[in-house]
Amino acid sequence: MLNQESKIELTKEYFIQQSELYGKEFYADVDFSFAAKSAGPETLSEFNLKIQNCQDCPLSKSRTQVVFGSGNPRAKLMCVGEAPGYEEDKQGKPFVGAAGQLLDKILAAIGFNREEVYIANIVKCRPPGNRDPEPKEVAECLPFLKKQIAMIQPKCILALGRVAAQNLLATRQSLSSLRRTVQQFENIQVVVTYHPAALLRNPQWKRQTWEDVQTLRKLYDKIVGDKPPILSKASET
Ligand code: SF4
Repeated sequence: MLNQESKIELTKEYFIQQSELYGKEFYADVDFSFAAKSAGPETLSEFNLKIQNCQDCPLSKSRTQVVFGSGNPRAKLMCVGEAPGYEEDKQGKPFVGAAGQLLDKILAAIGFNREEVYIANIVKCRPPGNRDPEPKEVAECLPFLKKQIAMIQPKCILALGRVAAQNLLATRQSLSSLRRTVQQFENIQVVVTYHPAALLRNPQWKRQTWEDVQTLRKLYDKIVGDKPPILSKASET
């Protein structure tokens, strides 16, 4: 794979050649995803457009579309999952299947709705058969998520599942160990809990998930404090 400098040099050569051929205005059918990993400020929509044709890892071959992320671009709470699944790959949005409906319920239980948070994944293309993303796929895609986080500047992050937590926090610690304390990602408080898809398969983990999201809500109230109190305990997911 080309390094960053070689890609920039190739792009420069391409533009010089095109301007010689067509003057100042020409159509460029180019994958700009490499620039999107390091480029300066832009809107999330522009960023999304830039990586829609990303070919930076093998997941580009099997996906239907890049699932960029969705929600409030000024969200104070971000949810980070693992990867798009079958439904997400079809619809182009994160957490839209059964796991997504459960995530909506979990968020509602602590007073949030989907529209006020921002939801994204560690990798933006569906791994075949919903396998875990490979390290090299994560290495290519994680800079996109990190840039999204830098643009949104959430105050708290809810990391959903082992793959999301370990990759976001750059650690091999177990999920149970990461759940025990509030974590940090670049000065942002991170609460780790089970992935809703795992929760669907293991409903006995509901109580622990309820405890994790209560921790999250208390943390949010301490840092942000802009939500009305939860008057009664909602259903435990
Ligand atoms: S998973 Fe990420 S790096 Fe890989 S092709 Fe999709 S957008 Fe690009």
